[in-house]
Amino acid sequence: MAIGVFKSGDELFDQGVDLIKRKEFAKARSNFEKTIAKGGKNANLAGIYIDMIDACLDNNNPARYERLASTLGKANGPFEFGLTEINPERVALECSLLAERMQVGRIQGNTSEILEQKGNKFLDIARRYQAKIGNDSIQINEIVGLQVNTGIKEALYLQAWGYESLAAGAVMSDPKKAAELLQNAYTCRKQLGEDGQQDMNLMKAYSKSVKCWICGRPSTGEGVHFLAMSSEISPFMRQSDDDILKSAPADYNSVYVCKPCYSSISRRSDEIARRYHEQAMQEMRAMEARLQAEIRSMNATMMVMRR
Ligand SMILES: [Zn+2]
Repeated sequence: MAIGVFKSGDELFDQGVDLIKRKEFAKARSNFEKTIAKGGKNANLAGIYIDMIDACLDNNNPARYERLASTLGKANGPFEFGLTEINPERVALECSLLAERMQVGRIQGNTSEILEQKGNKFLDIARRYQAKIGNDSIQINEIVGLQVNTGIKEALYLQAWGYESLAAGAVMSDPKKAAELLQNAYTCRKQLGEDGQQDMNLMKAYSKSVKCWICGRPSTGEGVHFLAMSSEISPFMRQSDDDILKSAPADYNSVYVCKPCYSSISRRSDEIARRYHEQAMQEMRAMEARLQAEIRSMNATMMVMRR
């Protein structure tokens, strides 16, 4: 008879704890399941270990952390997971924050309202990481194999995402405000040791103001409220000193046009192009019919000649 069949719940539990140290999570999980089935003093902790293992094996799933946060509430004081001493209250808090962070990151949609909500939620979670975790390292990230940061550093990432999302939500109605929000995001990126170039580029584009070459109206926010349109500014035109000339890229190969002018021109030219396309297709179909008729009549003539 195989040894181990009659192991007690406690033995299975102790073996499970050792298996975690060796990172043999699947085997450890099965030991803890058997521990629970057999009952005994370690059943409660075995349940917590199972949820911790599930989080390790599926570390990108916010539902795992939500569950673990509530299971950890049942722990009776600190315990060990592998080589890490777990403070249940603290890790439960980290799990809730992590689950929330992941869920906010998954919010879909590009409307201003959604982007604004998403940005504010990121900033709110950032405040809690800062206040409640502070300069300590985030234990749950270490346990499940996610990037380990201090609460302060995690808060900086969340602030950068928050301000970037708020900026994306604001740019359609207020490009100057969007540029200010990106300035905040840029500062966070710099503090994180990144170059922040993407924020910087958007900030420059959103705060740039020009006059439309077609209607003369002022516009702010390159790429959103005005665009460069291919053109040619001749040397003579370059000598003019009106301020609209400032509203051209340095290479003089395009002019800036406001979004309303740009979209009216492109929609109208689309309509014209579509009409020409339909006309051309009609003519092709008519020509094809004529050719088919000619082929048929030629075939008929050849049949007559063969007789
Ligand atoms: Zn215009």
